[in-house]
Amino acid sequence: MTGLLRTPNALLIAALLLSPCVVRPSLAQPERSARADDPRLQRLKQEALRDVDGMQKKVQEMVDMVFSFGELGYQEVETSRYLVATLRQNGFTVTEGTSGMPTAWVAKWGSGKPVIALGSDIDGIPQASQKPGVAYRDPLVEGAPGHGEGHNSGQAVNIAAALAVKKIMEREKIPGTLMLWPGVAEELVGAKAYFVRDGMFKDVDFVIFTHVGTKLGTSWGASTGSGLVSVEYTFEGQTAHSAGSPWRGRSALDAVELMNAGWNYRREHLRPQHRVHYVIRDGGDQPNVVPRRASVWYYLREIDYPHIQELFTIANDMAKGAALMTGTTHANTRMLGTAWPRHFNKPVAEAMTDNAKTVGMPTWSSADQTLAKALQKELKEPEKGLDTALAILEAPKPDDEQRGGGSDDIGDVSWVVPTVTLSYPSNIPNLPGHNWANAIAMATPIAHKGVVAGAKVEALTILDLLLKPALLPEAWKYFRDVQQKDVKYTPLLRAGDRPATELNAAVMARYRPEMKKFYYDPSKYATYLEQLGIQYPTVRKQD
Ligand SMILES: [Zn+2]
Repeated sequence: MTGLLRTPNALLIAALLLSPCVVRPSLAQPERSARADDPRLQRLKQEALRDVDGMQKKVQEMVDMVFSFGELGYQEVETSRYLVATLRQNGFTVTEGTSGMPTAWVAKWGSGKPVIALGSDIDGIPQASQKPGVAYRDPLVEGAPGHGEGHNSGQAVNIAAALAVKKIMEREKIPGTLMLWPGVAEELVGAKAYFVRDGMFKDVDFVIFTHVGTKLGTSWGASTGSGLVSVEYTFEGQTAHSAGSPWRGRSALDAVELMNAGWNYRREHLRPQHRVHYVIRDGGDQPNVVPRRASVWYYLREIDYPHIQELFTIANDMAKGAALMTGTTHANTRMLGTAWPRHFNKPVAEAMTDNAKTVGMPTWSSADQTLAKALQKELKEPEKGLDTALAILEAPKPDDEQRGGGSDDIGDVSWVVPTVTLSYPSNIPNLPGHNWANAIAMATPIAHKGVVAGAKVEALTILDLLLKPALLPEAWKYFRDVQQKDVKYTPLLRAGDRPATELNAAVMARYRPEMKKFYYDPSKYATYLEQLGIQYPTVRKQD
């Protein structure tokens, strides 16, 4: 089929011809009836919807609490302590320190099969400290990290859904195990490949992952976006007086700069799907000492495993060349994280989409829309406000239309267990991502309502997995026969790689004392906005 798609016009025509395959509400009726719920399942689903609605206060507390911690990857100490305590209070058995990461854990409740695992990321973004509900840049702590991606909200989705389903499983004596786990250091793609390597998912039958978005819905097939290796190159030279006897020194920083210059020339001759970016982690000590050590940290992204490995080989050659040019040594190539490209499960994505149609988008207040439009105006984006339509479940883009983009190490999980990612509408559309602006909605009614909607869809989908006997076998059939037909999972992690759990420790040590003053205290304040004394919404005065 892709062979026919040779010209842009042919593409467009083919897309139009193919459009009936796309599950849109008006076209979904025949499929829906084939997948109709039996009366008992319908009744239990109604109960789960009511129960999640009854958890709105708890959801608001969890979302606001984790927002107020604002912790960076591997340093999610307060976040994990709080979530683990919450889960233990609710009858879950929790194991901590998973895969050698102090902030990782696995929480289980129930017994036997199926094992349904619910995951979501928990880490924040550098430089993203921001007052919630304020439609312009206004940090809580200047320079500090914050939830500039919205990872403060996903565990609340999972916990609310799990508690609603657990209550039903207990009373109805439904066999199965609910397993909750955190995406530690997702912004560093630093945990999930280790979880996979260490067997966290070996008995798991299905993974539902939740991630903040602006719409409610899911996807199947190869996800738009990239996989990557995150790798640090360290060079070693020798010190000398930079003015008195520079000829006796060898500059490791020169090697870093030449490696980067080499890469920036090579970029032009790589295919458009690649994306590569770097930061210099260590550029030496002071100008009058020739830098003995220097290091540069690269994210090497491509859309499939062979091309990621190809980029990695090129980067390794660049490092060798830079060392040769400068008379330094390429001392170390340290893997700081990896992520496989994602592939999501079709049968469960379809069931989840039916459930999203049942739940529908949240009802936004005029205050919610005012905040959203004011922020979009601030960012010079069209003032469209919040999304009101559900996400449409579409067929994945053909390989030759994939252009790459962001990554998530849920990719590794999606290649060892059938997985879907539920996107729930807790944020404002058209924001830059990884930015203070993405934090603004994340401890406001927008985030709270989006989490409640997401938790409902997730609870209904867990009930489908537990009570529709055909669904899990269909999910595994797709996983084995379609997803893995031409692609086999080969980890990007190397045998000796270990999680870089010291990352972000220094930044958090620097900012945590100031950030602590802003931790949410739900015993004193109904909401975090109230604690901060923020009028919702706060927007710029019109001039
Ligand atoms: Zn994320």
